[in-house]
Amino acid sequence: MLNIIRTRLAQGFRTAKYPVPNPPLPGGFRGLPSVDFSRCETGCRACEKICPTGCFAPDNGRPALDLGKCIFCGSCERQCPKGAVGFSTDHRLAVRKREDLLLSRAGAYRKADALSAAMRRIFGRSLRLRQVSAGGCNACEADVNVLNTPVFDISRFGIQFVASPRHADGLLVTGPVTRNMELALRKTWEATPAPRIVIASGACAISGGLFAGRAETLSGAGAVLPVDLFIPGCPPHPWAILDGLLRLLGKIR
Ligand code: SF4
Ligand code: SF4
Repeated sequence: MLNIIRTRLAQGFRTAKYPVPNPPLPGGFRGLPSVDFSRCETGCRACEKICPTGCFAPDNGRPALDLGKCIFCGSCERQCPKGAVGFSTDHRLAVRKREDLLLSRAGAYRKADALSAAMRRIFGRSLRLRQVSAGGCNACEADVNVLNTPVFDISRFGIQFVASPRHADGLLVTGPVTRNMELALRKTWEATPAPRIVIASGACAISGGLFAGRAETLSGAGAVLPVDLFIPGCPPHPWAILDGLLRLLGKIR
């Protein structure tokens, strides 16, 4: 027992401060990418050929990168002969609309804005979420789970994960939504009292990720439910998830 107390004292206070501009992230972390499409030569398409999830596709005739499909493998950065693709360490990736995940020449990245004032009055100080793993590989689920540890301590912001959708204010969906999970996801949504929100966390839940277009999946939560927040990543880093949730609640702008 004394050893446990000594160890605990030696560990000190473990909860990381947040929000801060630069939370502790692992070396090699890939955050918000930038693509200088002006460097692209006509007909090059090296990034398009190498990307495992088909992120590079034109948007209204303009070259674009769909961050909702990206698994942050870094292949495009390594393979681009012109050095046009780079990844920052900016973990603030969450957006409110699916189309905001399309990076093109036009405009700055539009980070998630807050829920309406009426919704913030309901959820702003207490948000309960039911996590639904709709066919995920378990990495997204693990990085959601870690938000409950002392380092991230999500409960200090009034956010908790609950066991029953009847006790929840919304769903946090991971995985591409396999056909076997479709009914369970719909039933979980129906059991959640309105008003309710849906968060798609990870490339799979946003677009199907590596499993997009497969007969066994529905290619993302948006095929089944109205999504209020999209958090890119494969899996999204816990700070990216927390940042998105706090933006949704209007606690970060
Ligand atoms: S980092 Fe994203 S955009 Fe680049 S090749 Fe990998 S999946 Fe495609
Ligand atoms: S987004 Fe990536 S980490 Fe998350 S479930 Fe899909 S494959 Fe796994």
